[in-house]
Amino acid sequence: MTSASSQGIPRPIVKTLDEILPHEPLLMMGAGPVPIPERVARANSMVINHLGDVMASVIDQVKSMARYVFQTESKWVLGVAGPASAAMEMAVSNLLEPNEKILCINNGFFSHRMSEMATRVGAEVHQLDIDTHQAADPDRVEKVIKEVQPKVVTLVQGETSNTVFNHTLEEISKMAKRYGCLVVVDAVCTLSTMPLKMDEWQVDVVITGGQKGLSSIPGVSLLAFSDEAWNTVKTRTVPTAQWCFDAQLAANFWHNDGYHYTAPVSGIMALHEALKLVCDETLESRFARHLRCSKALQEGIEGLGLSLFIPPSARLNSVVGINIPDGLNAKQICRHISEVYRVEIAGSFGQPIVRIGQMGEQCREHNLFRTLHAFGSTMRDLGVKVDQPNGMAAMEAYLQSIPREGANKSSELQSYQRNDQSRQE
Ligand SMILES: *Cc1c(COP(=O)(O)O)cnc(C)c1O
Repeated sequence: MTSASSQGIPRPIVKTLDEILPHEPLLMMGAGPVPIPERVARANSMVINHLGDVMASVIDQVKSMARYVFQTESKWVLGVAGPASAAMEMAVSNLLEPNEKILCINNGFFSHRMSEMATRVGAEVHQLDIDTHQAADPDRVEKVIKEVQPKVVTLVQGETSNTVFNHTLEEISKMAKRYGCLVVVDAVCTLSTMPLKMDEWQVDVVITGGQKGLSSIPGVSLLAFSDEAWNTVKTRTVPTAQWCFDAQLAANFWHNDGYHYTAPVSGIMALHEALKLVCDETLESRFARHLRCSKALQEGIEGLGLSLFIPPSARLNSVVGINIPDGLNAKQICRHISEVYRVEIAGSFGQPIVRIGQMGEQCREHNLFRTLHAFGSTMRDLGVKVDQPNGMAAMEAYLQSIPREGANKSSELQSYQRNDQSRQE
């Protein structure tokens, strides 16, 4: 007999979290999770009863704030205990029954994930692969929709993995509706960082996570179904394979004060505070803040003498992809900037880039200056010739040229429109 079975499993000797965590906290400037505001952190430390009047009021407010952020009047806002991928899975698995057709517009790693989920549901999966550096082209999508006649079309607003922005989303969505498709949009990294109008653009399902644009915690996600999409969910002939992701069971908690599973109460409290901060700021000001900060960062990076991965016509502002100079790799860069400068940035899934996030709390001037300085210094330390003073000055000059959030709302909006215009030219 071994000693383990006679005396039980010995108690492990482990460190405290303080001993594991770095002395100086890392500034989280990667592709998520992003820094969370103090109010969100405090809310996340609470546990309350998952059922009852207090929770019902919290849920009510979460839903109404989510409707504002999604820009929808639809009743069918739901949350899910899980990553944004769980919300994606909930959309795909509730809308599709075995052998039904789905068209997945594939811009990269995350939009491809939706097709993997649809395959597991037993759907007939069609994919339209988009060139890495481009937004989806509505004419090409229309051709494929005509051919395939899918029940569901999925697309991503911002493909975080290669930093492409599908600025054609509105056009594609409205077009797909003309063919009777249900349109599912992954807005995980973009929601509350740039315009998305669920009702006006005729999107049927919008999906988001907590840890990106919303600046909440990872692990609690949100999605909204249009009335048409909800009707499809309700009239399914086969129940969903996964009990936890059954939207009709989830509606029991999210719409009837009833029990499905024990809700992630602390995470919902955090999400409540994150949404409240979005409402207080207003979407318009928030979009303007994101645009101003992301553009300033892009100016700064180019000012260093480095180049961006995606051309301006299809470039995502929520996550900025930077070409890696010859002779270096992403791992080296990310490790150095983290160890020496205490700034965390991200590598990529399959692209020769490093990525700096511009979502939620990442879009603050003090974070921009620290990050650009750390990034330029990292490049210099690793033997790349960069013009650090020029980069810092370019960023400062851009920030000075655009009024700060709240200073002049109408001109901020104009700047958004100018940006949109230059994209189309
Ligand atoms: C991060 C991300 C996801 C996945 O989110 P998880 O919380 O890791 O599941 C999906 N889509 C996009 C566009 C993302 O940026």
